[in-house]
Amino acid sequence: MRIQLENLEGSKGDFAHVYQPEELNPVDERVSLIAPGVVNGKVQRSGNQVFVNGHVETRAQVECDRCLKPVEIPVDADFTLEYVSGSDYESSEVVELTEAEMSVSVFDGKAIDVDEIAKEQILLAVPTRMLCREDCKGICPECGTDRNAGECKCVTNDIDPRWAALKDLR
Ligand SMILES: [Zn+2]
Ligand SMILES: [Zn+2]
Repeated sequence: MRIQLENLEGSKGDFAHVYQPEELNPVDERVSLIAPGVVNGKVQRSGNQVFVNGHVETRAQVECDRCLKPVEIPVDADFTLEYVSGSDYESSEVVELTEAEMSVSVFDGKAIDVDEIAKEQILLAVPTRMLCREDCKGICPECGTDRNAGECKCVTNDIDPRWAALKDLR
């Protein structure tokens, strides 16, 4: 969904959309949605700047970092975004970017892409490290057994992968 800014003049700029999971999936290589993504918010224009405030809610599925088992997590996040059009950005007299300006996105001056916002905000809401449980034992590098389900017979004691490569040469 794109919000055309020319239609925004005089209107309140409220938007709301429900994405079916397949519309946004895959969000990226490790994150996908397993429930509809509900996005709503408000777009406000002030001169050449555009502000978007909103909320995104869904359930995401992320792989456990250790055992690759899918883990479900709720996503429920507010966001505030600021946009300037590409031409304004380039002609800006401010050369050094302050921290506040780093969060400013550049857009084509015509429309705001809500699909992109939804994906971005979902990714931001998902932790970069994800474990199915605090003490997940992971997968045996030798035989692929899920160590949470039971111990295998391998006596590897987690060989450093760099040494594992050498071992294969013997
Ligand atoms: Zn796990
Ligand atoms: Zn094993």
